Amino acid sequence: MASTDFNKMLYTPLPEADPVVQNIIDKEVWRQFTGLELIASENLTSRAAMDANGSILTNKYSEGLPNARYYGGNEYIDELEILCRKRALEAFHLDPAKWGVNVQPYSGSTANFAALTALIQPQDRLMGLGLPDGGHLTHGYYTAKKKMTASSIYFQSLPYAITKDTHLIDYVALAEQARIFKPKLIICGASAYPRDWDYAAIKKVTEKEGAFLMCDMAHTSGLVAAQELNDPFEYCDVVTTTTHKTLRGPRAGLIFFRKDLPNSPDLEKRVNEAVFPACQGGPHNNTIAAVAVALKQVADPAFKQYAKQVIANARTLGARLVEHGYKLQTGGTDNHLVLWDLRPLGLTGSKVEKVCDLMGITINKNAVSGDASAQVPGGIRLGTSALTSRNMLEADVKQVADFLHRAVQLSLLLQKEAGSKLLKDFVRVATSQEEGKQGFAQVKQLRDEVQKFATKWPLPGVDVTTLKKPEGLHELL
Ligand code: PLP
Repeated sequence: MASTDFNKMLYTPLPEADPVVQNIIDKEVWRQFTGLELIASENLTSRAAMDANGSILTNKYSEGLPNARYYGGNEYIDELEILCRKRALEAFHLDPAKWGVNVQPYSGSTANFAALTALIQPQDRLMGLGLPDGGHLTHGYYTAKKKMTASSIYFQSLPYAITKDTHLIDYVALAEQARIFKPKLIICGASAYPRDWDYAAIKKVTEKEGAFLMCDMAHTSGLVAAQELNDPFEYCDVVTTTTHKTLRGPRAGLIFFRKDLPNSPDLEKRVNEAVFPACQGGPHNNTIAAVAVALKQVADPAFKQYAKQVIANARTLGARLVEHGYKLQTGGTDNHLVLWDLRPLGLTGSKVEKVCDLMGITINKNAVSGDASAQVPGGIRLGTSALTSRNMLEADVKQVADFLHRAVQLSLLLQKEAGSKLLKDFVRVATSQEEGKQGFAQVKQLRDEVQKFATKWPLPGVDVTTLKKPEGLHELL
């Protein structure tokens, strides 16, 4: 008789089945618990979303759309996708007679490429906010030497910019560029822009030039759903988003499209066919379930309170840094992020990112307007979505700003002690004790203080009361 021992592994829980992977997960849980997460594109999704994401729905293939699949056995998957679409429209207060949504994109980049595929033809012209000015790679990014992403490889793209003085979108120059370039599509939305958008101003341009208007609201979609920012749906033909930033769901993407466009009555069909089969295969049903869970939470009145707090926290963070004498691009924020210009201090974003990493504060280096080199960004980007998901309020965020202030002052000391401007010398003095130098001891001191502060807060999906320090952490001495 055949033995089914070969299947025993299917029933073994992770810690037993694969202690190596379990240990890596445990170390990451520890990092998230003991650190402060200020990456503006990140957030902490809910336990319920993680439960759905780790569910048995991962087993099912369902190419196609509800009630029109290429495989059998999709009755419940259809129910799920229909529910997710309904919740997506409700979360953004949309009329199902006017708007539809495709919930299958695997992530934001694939959602954007599918949207471009639906809206325009290969080699058609598009415009998006330039990457150094806060735009995203998928909005047509290229360098002098290279077409960097599919959005510039398969389409002709031209960036628009922010003004040199206010650092706000230069809507006047955008209109002039569009008059000459004649784009078929203008993309608005950004990855590192702390202010709200004037969608009406761009709509005027697209109407004049006969172009589509698409908003990629990936960063701000949670704040848009909470009606704390201007509404891109009032003006745009297509709106894309990731689901894991301010929206606080699992990692995925959504494409909303107008059903009532007189010049494109078939937009729904084009978007759906662009997602599958043009750009993707089978939907990730476990993720769609988690997106549905997250969207239910977004429609809950508590989410509006969350979104308001994210913005209040970002404003507080910015104001405190200004109090300490620092310079923010645009002077402040309307949303969840601030852009901190470090150049007046003679520091680069990479150095401050490195020091913060050593302290357990996660941030990212970011270009600021007027940077001499794209390789050496002069600023950092900070976001408050994840801190707010750990229950922090204004007074707590002020303490975080004070940690950042100390990190920057410490970076200046380390730069001095490094004896050169090279990053490798800076890292050397930040990570090892050298005779007569103070920096390393201060890094450790700050790391301990950050850890003490961070471990006061809960972490969704984790019982922090029973959490134990795992083996193998990459720790400073
Ligand atoms: N669009 C914007 C504005 C983003 O900021 C990002 C990611 O940071 C994306 C799209 C890409 O999303 P993903 O990383 O899920 O592909």
